[in-house]
Amino acid sequence: MKMPKTGRQWADVKTDLLERGNGDAKWREGKTAVYVFNAGDEIAAIQKEAYSAYMSENGLGPAAFPSLAQMEADVISMALDLLHGPAGSTGAMTSGGTDSITMAIKTARDYARANGRALDSANIVLPQSAHLAFDKASQLMDIEVRRIALKTDGSFEADVDEMAAACGADTIMMVGSAPNFPHGIIDPITELGAVAERENIWLHVDACVGGYFAPFARMNGVPVPAFDFEVPAVRSMSADLHKYGYAAKGASTVLFRSQELYEFMPFDFACWSGAPMKTPTLAGTRPGGAISAAWAVMNHLGVDGYRRLQGEVCATREKVEEAVKALGFEILGNPILGLIAFRHRKYNIFAIYGEMYRKGWFTSATIEPPSLHLMLSPRHSEFIDSYIEDLAASVKTVAGAEETKPAEEVEVRYS
Ligand SMILES: *Cc1c(COP(=O)(O)O)cnc(C)c1O
Repeated sequence: MKMPKTGRQWADVKTDLLERGNGDAKWREGKTAVYVFNAGDEIAAIQKEAYSAYMSENGLGPAAFPSLAQMEADVISMALDLLHGPAGSTGAMTSGGTDSITMAIKTARDYARANGRALDSANIVLPQSAHLAFDKASQLMDIEVRRIALKTDGSFEADVDEMAAACGADTIMMVGSAPNFPHGIIDPITELGAVAERENIWLHVDACVGGYFAPFARMNGVPVPAFDFEVPAVRSMSADLHKYGYAAKGASTVLFRSQELYEFMPFDFACWSGAPMKTPTLAGTRPGGAISAAWAVMNHLGVDGYRRLQGEVCATREKVEEAVKALGFEILGNPILGLIAFRHRKYNIFAIYGEMYRKGWFTSATIEPPSLHLMLSPRHSEFIDSYIEDLAASVKTVAGAEETKPAEEVEVRYS
């Protein structure tokens, strides 16, 4: 496309714009279980209205926009309250989980350096199931990533002993997930904490997908193990608002046990022609809407609202578990939140994935081991029966095909 010389009427552009979405995954009809968190029309309307109210304001300027500074402070204090942040704990909003993780690693590295550690080279030690954002950030900062195989007992949890053995003098961070993305399993954070404490290593908990889910699941009676600042060795956490916080996209939180640790995060610079600037995270300009929408959704839902929504997600997950087991699938580990992965005992999982894709389902897959993957939203409760119906039909088709010829592998693509 070339920019039109003369612009078009908005009505015309709008029609065009909305038509562009016709070929997209049908998330409003519950056909995705990745990328989108659908908490219903009311929450969507609040996201939009709250976002547009501060869409032009800029979080880069807290003095100009004390409204945003206060809303961010409120969001962080709500987060810390939910995640057992001790007195003095603090944090910042970022654009997303990758941003939060990048800033946590940068902070841990600078903290290590200030303490005479990892001056020449640095590494981080993480379970194989940890999010690739750790690798992305480490590539940027020239940090070595030591990925450690998971336990082989079928729990799909981090292998704490092997992780401990992989740590050295230059290790600036150990990571546990709560839960991890590929299997939806919470790592043994208490055990990781014991190692981190003994070795005096920074422990980061990646609760991007569980930070605003697990506390409410626990209130609903789900046996959620200690995973947050309740574990004394946890120095930082990442928790995404734009996932199970049901905020508009572009909202995450990076949290620190103390102001002393946090101080290694902001970039404070005066040696250029412009005015001195201090920014907490990677971003310069920070969209005010991402802050106001998160603040509004949190205040609208409150603890009761989140408990209700996360309860619906857990109920849907339980329904899926029961149904897929009946179809010959095996659930990986013991997921207790909204993520679930399951492999088939007999049939090629990618052939089943292909059948589901042809039926319009755009879900994710896990590669180690090959399995189907769902990240469930509250509104999936309305659509899960048709998912299960289609899954049963897909298994039947694949079973029939595999009797005549070996399964053809389909490639799972996200981009
Ligand atoms: C989504 C996710 C991330 C990355 O978050 P983005 O917002 O996509 O950058 C990191 N860790 C886990 C466990 C996640 O689920």
